[in-house]
Amino acid sequence: RAAVARNEARSAEIPILAYQPGNEERHIRQLAILADLRRAARHDEFRLFLQPKIRLPDGEICGAEALVRWQHPVFGFLTPDQFIPLAEKSGNISLITNWALGAAIRECRFWLEEGLDLPVSVNLSARDLQNRDLPCFALELLRDHDLPSRNLVLEITEQAVVHDAQRAILVLECLRDLGICISIDDFGTGYSSLAHLKHLPADELKIDRSFVMDLPGNKDDAAIVRAAIDLAHNLGRPVVAEGVENAAILLRRGELGCAEAQGDHMSKPVPLAAL
Ligand code: C2E
Ligand code: MG
Ligand code: MG
Repeated sequence: RAAVARNEARSAEIPILAYQPGNEERHIRQLAILADLRRAARHDEFRLFLQPKIRLPDGEICGAEALVRWQHPVFGFLTPDQFIPLAEKSGNISLITNWALGAAIRECRFWLEEGLDLPVSVNLSARDLQNRDLPCFALELLRDHDLPSRNLVLEITEQAVVHDAQRAILVLECLRDLGICISIDDFGTGYSSLAHLKHLPADELKIDRSFVMDLPGNKDDAAIVRAAIDLAHNLGRPVVAEGVENAAILLRRGELGCAEAQGDHMSKPVPLAAL
């Protein structure tokens, strides 16, 4: 029970926390989720959801982001916040990354056969950028499915590059040399945006939804978003606004000069067949 309280305190980042009866249930559930990760990848319990990215003003779909969910046999439908951080902390994220890459590339190949030349975006975690085998793994999958590498976009956060930046940038450059596109996710939430941006091999910036969601009413957020868009444009990189929840945000994003958008207003993440 002391260990459970200590773990809770650590993850909540508070110095002292008393054990509460029932706390171990969460802990036991997390342990069970961790133990089941490998089986989930093998038995195809993960589900790929997709959220379209829209180009404006014409409203055409210009890509889709792959977002993983887990249909767990006991705990039911799990969203990424319930298992991705656990997989990251325990060093198991490559199980999910490899599964997501395979599923996304397979789906993207299917679109191409249907006459839809649409890139698919897959999220990477910090540890993936320390994995020197990742570029080879991605290349093999692309070859197996005969998919052009420009149809694959990998989303990374600025934070993911901070840890052993040298190796991370090496892996990123390798991926880019293969023709895979790199997108900076949750842009603006990292600490070292400006210093890092210069060195980051990136083809696209996605402005974090925390800045985008309050756009219509919040002058500060609008200023931040405008500055980020100007910066990206000056670096010659397109910008995507994440978290476009309603028409007012969509309009404001247009006024600020951001040409691509993703969010619940256009479509929530949906199962493969629904896209
Ligand atoms: P993300 O990559 O920033 O993905 C966007 C998240 O914002 C998605 O949440 C999406 O549902 C949500 N979102 C999109 N539009 C709106 C909106 O208009 N309003 C609001 N409130 N939310 C919106 P989701 O699917 O729960 O994913 C959460 C995070 O989990 C992702 O953030 C990503 O960091 C991570 N994740 C998901 N799939 C994977 C994966 O396969 N691998 C890794 N490493 N991480 C993943
Ligand atoms: Mg993302
Ligand atoms: Mg994001």
